[in-house]
Formats: sequence, C-alpha cells, structure tokens
Amino acid sequence: MSLIDQYNRTIKYLRLSVTDRCDLRCFYCMPEGFSDYEEPEEWLSFDEIERVIASFTRLGVTSVRLTGGEPLVRKDLPILAKRLAALPGLKDLSLSTNAMQLAKHASSLHNAGISRINVSLDTVDPIKFKKITQGKLDKVIEGLLAAKAVGLHPIKINMVIMKGVNDDDVEAMVDFCQAHEFTLRFIETMPMGDTGRDAVDYYIDLNKIEQRLEKKYELIPAVMAGAGPARYVQVVGTDLKIGFITPISQHFCDTCNRVRLSATGILYMCLGDEYSYELRPLLRNNISDDDLDQVIRDAINLKPLKHEFNEKPEKIVRFMSMTGG
Ligand code: SAM
Ligand code: SF4
Repeated sequence: MSLIDQYNRTIKYLRLSVTDRCDLRCFYCMPEGFSDYEEPEEWLSFDEIERVIASFTRLGVTSVRLTGGEPLVRKDLPILAKRLAALPGLKDLSLSTNAMQLAKHASSLHNAGISRINVSLDTVDPIKFKKITQGKLDKVIEGLLAAKAVGLHPIKINMVIMKGVNDDDVEAMVDFCQAHEFTLRFIETMPMGDTGRDAVDYYIDLNKIEQRLEKKYELIPAVMAGAGPARYVQVVGTDLKIGFITPISQHFCDTCNRVRLSATGILYMCLGDEYSYELRPLLRNNISDDDLDQVIRDAINLKPLKHEFNEKPEKIVRFMSMTGG
C-alpha cells in the first residue's frame, strides 16, 4: 500500500507535532513573550495520535519524527514513543528537540524506541545562545552528552545560519561537532509567520557558507541515512559530515516525501503552504479505520507541487512551531 500524491511523489514520512508549546523562544521561530497556545484538550490524545499514525503506516509511511514546539514539553512523551514504535510498519522513529530537557529523558526515549535525534543548536557561544533563544547553553550541552552516552545515533545538530547573528560561528560549530561525533546541518531561514519573515533579513544563501568552508577544509560529497532533504559533504580526514538544507536557494520539492500533523490534528501537506485537512473532528466522531485511511488518501491529493517561500513570502501566517518543523 502506498500514499502517492497527484505529482507522483510517494509519502513515506510524517512529522508529528505533539505540542505547540516550547521552553525556548528562538527569535526566528516564536515571538518573545508568546503564550497564545492551543489548550491541552485541543491536542490529540495519545490514543488519537496512535490511531492516526497506525493509519499512515497502513498506507505505507515508514518514518515518523516527533517534533513541536518542543516535544519534550509534552508529558509522558516516552510512553507515546513506545506505543508508536510498536506499530507494525513503522521502521524509523526519531525526535527533533532543543535538548533543554534531554538529559533527564534521553535514556527513557532510547528505551522507548527512538533511534536518532536532531537537536537545534545555532551557536556554542553561551552569550549568543541566550540572545537567540532566551535559554541556557549548558542545558543543551548536558542533554547532548546524555543522548550520546545512552547510544542515540546519529545525533544531528541543526544550525539555522543568520548573517550577522551566527554566521561567524560556523567554524566553531564544525570543531564542536567533530569533537563530539555529531553531524552538522546548516539550514536557511524560512519566512514562517512574522518571526520567520523578520529573520529573512538575516538570510544567507548556504552556497556562500560552503564556499567559505572549502577554503579551510577539503570537502567531498557524502551520503547520510535518513529521510530528509539535506545534501551532505564530508570533511576529508575526519568522520564529520555536514548537511545543507536549502529550501530557499535550491528547493527540493520535487523529491518531497513528507507531510506534517499539528498537535491539534491538522494535517499540513507542505511547510510553505496553507493546504490542510482537520482530522480531529473525524477522530472524535468515531470514524472507522477504513474511512480514516480514505480521508488521508484524499487529503494527500491536496499536496502542492512546490512551496512559494520566494514568490509569496507573506503567505504563511503560522510559526514553524505551529506546524511541526
Ligand atoms: N523545538 C524543536 C527544535 O528546536 O528542534 C523542534 C521544533 S523546531 C520548530 C524544528 C526546527 O525548525 C528547528 O531546527 C528550528 O531551528 C527550525 N526553525 C524554526 N523556525 C525556523 C525558520 N523561520 N526558518 C528556518 N528554520 C526554522
Ligand atoms: Fe522552540 Fe524549536 Fe521554535 Fe526554538 S525552534 S522556539 S526550540 S520550537
């Protein structure tokens, strides 16, 4: 059974937001002081999430990433992870986190069946980290080291690169990731919501960063397991792989294999589009498994050919944390 959209792309990957809340305030993602969150009773319950993910796996989805907001803010996340990991057909369960609370949860998440994690980290300078996120860098480092110690692998560090904010931290991040055997991925800023649009003022084409790195390191093309859109290089003489995620300078929509489910059960077909389908009312009206499968199949046909971040940067009003970035 496969989920194939009208442009012949097979959907194998779902990003599941378990909450829109977060314990950080990265300025390019969530506005300072923001608290206009969904109420917990609006979130899908663990039973409802399990039903939806079971449906997606029946339809051929094999990878699920838990995200948010900050997924570790959702109570009992390892219990949900364990239930999802047990679903037949789910081969890969991963997590995106800011790592603020990872130290206390790393072991139970690993035991629950999370195999690999992505951690947001835009700088290893504690003062800059505080400016960007309002949080404390040492909590993140503690979380990363705990994750490594329990055997989560690979650990990928996601760094949103912003001109004049952290672009001069790239080499320090390379050294940090090499020393700790993490994979480093650079991300271009996207105009998601007003915060993301303001951050586009700091946008850098990642080709420029790659050219800069090539002056210091010998880079060769590399391959990295995972269901994502990054293009990888390896630093010769080391095990370090560096990924470039370039939704703006070089979009990868023709190979997109994913959809996103918000914490309240809205299925978004594309990060850069408003096409969506509300699953929660159907779940709360006891839709049958067969009908749920059919609804998802029909919804996938709403997936647009490509995002329009460049053509219509004003289009997306929701922040990244609302969609499940
Ligand atoms: N809280 C978790 C974290 O930070 O990893 C998971 C959710 S967060 C929304 C997922 C990713 O989206 C992070 O790597 C973050 O840097 C990225 N992100 C958020 N807003 C963005 C924007 N406007 N442009 C590019 N990436 C963004
Ligand atoms: Fe929170 Fe992640 Fe958004 Fe930062 S990027 S504010 S950690 S959801």
